[in-house]
Amino acid sequence: MENFTFYNPTRLIFGRDTVAELKNEVPKYGKNVLLVYGGGSIQKSGLYDKVVSQLKELDINLFELPGVEPNPRLATVHKGVEICKRENIDFLLAVGGGSVIDCTKAIAAGAKYDGDAWDFISHKVMATDALPFGTVLTLAATGSEMNAGSVITNWETKEKLGWGSEATYPRFSILDPQNTFTVPRNHTIYGMVDMMAHVLENYMSHSPNTPLQERFLESILRTVIETAPKLLENLESYELRETILYSGTMALNGMTNMGMNGDWASHNIEHAVSAVYDIPHGGGLAILVPNKMKYAVEKGVGVSRFVQLAVRVFGVDPAGKSDNEVALEGIERLRAFWTSMEAPSRLADYDIDDSQLDVMVEKTMHAGPFGGFQTLDRADVKQILQMSL
Ligand code: NAP
Ligand code: FE
Repeated sequence: MENFTFYNPTRLIFGRDTVAELKNEVPKYGKNVLLVYGGGSIQKSGLYDKVVSQLKELDINLFELPGVEPNPRLATVHKGVEICKRENIDFLLAVGGGSVIDCTKAIAAGAKYDGDAWDFISHKVMATDALPFGTVLTLAATGSEMNAGSVITNWETKEKLGWGSEATYPRFSILDPQNTFTVPRNHTIYGMVDMMAHVLENYMSHSPNTPLQERFLESILRTVIETAPKLLENLESYELRETILYSGTMALNGMTNMGMNGDWASHNIEHAVSAVYDIPHGGGLAILVPNKMKYAVEKGVGVSRFVQLAVRVFGVDPAGKSDNEVALEGIERLRAFWTSMEAPSRLADYDIDDSQLDVMVEKTMHAGPFGGFQTLDRADVKQILQMSL
């Protein structure tokens, strides 16, 4: 293992009707509360009324920032920061999916920063302080509810960048599977792809002696693979939504991959595609991840890890096959599984052709060659994108 320090201060409040905990949590953090949410799903589902009626019973002043877009934008962060500074906001409550939570993280840090929030999002400076915030999660996918990461798009410059700091862990996150019943089929699929991609990014690791971590990660993949088809037949099953919700959190809260350096190259490439075309994150990953993995095998990078994945997670029988054949068969089964859920498999599924290929390649290279498992340069990224057309 790599040496590690584990730190995760988020209070995870999980289960049926746990939204009622808001009344115990919110008053801890002050009087002026900014409620942040997305484009209307929480009004439609009735969650907005539930949350607001809870908050109205408290002695607080409630402000609102609606309209956070999927792939949240810097302009919305600016709007939120302006409200926080003008109204002396003490606490932010994000109610929504990863986009709403990521945007809230940037607003919380921006409220404590004198310059433009883009400075810390683009890693020019480190965000060292943030207003406290909590979340009510409505979509199982990103793990943002229990990590410090955030991904923000600057639509003017067409950049989508991940950032985070010790100050941007949620103080608490409320996860009630019932709040995910209304997630439409396509976003349910994208969410499951995203959490599997997080596991795979962690799994693509050269860190020595991590047998328990590998088993943890494999168990998340196997659980999602087993649960996904049943959930897609029954989107309002409490138990199936519960399993997937917990899987998404455990896939990216740091608990299953301590002491392991992961890859994260597929995420970096996906962010570049999303920055140019504004496609759903999980959809982009479904296209890119298997191609990125195949490319590693073709270059002879980490083949034994892919063999292990193929055998232990996808049940590939290695008898009489070369390591490369087993590895590629496992990757094909991953692709087939995602295709069976009707996830996209080619950029053409989003009408993306090669006209902006070089632009996307440039966007991925903003911090130079990348990838913890296999270092990718311009030519590598171009090939992976070409494989994905
Ligand atoms: P999302 O962008 O937050 O939401 C996708 C869509 O689902 C929105 O249209 C939203 O509608 C809708 N929705 C959410 N909950 C719903 C519900 N309960 N019922 C009906 N509709 C619902 O999706 P996400 O996958 O959670 O977040 C994606 C973003 O997170 C991307 O920008 C991605 O890059 C980022 N990300 C972050 C991390 C991290 O660690 N921070 C990791 C991976 C990805 P409304 O807007 O109307 O609510
Ligand atoms: Fe992701």
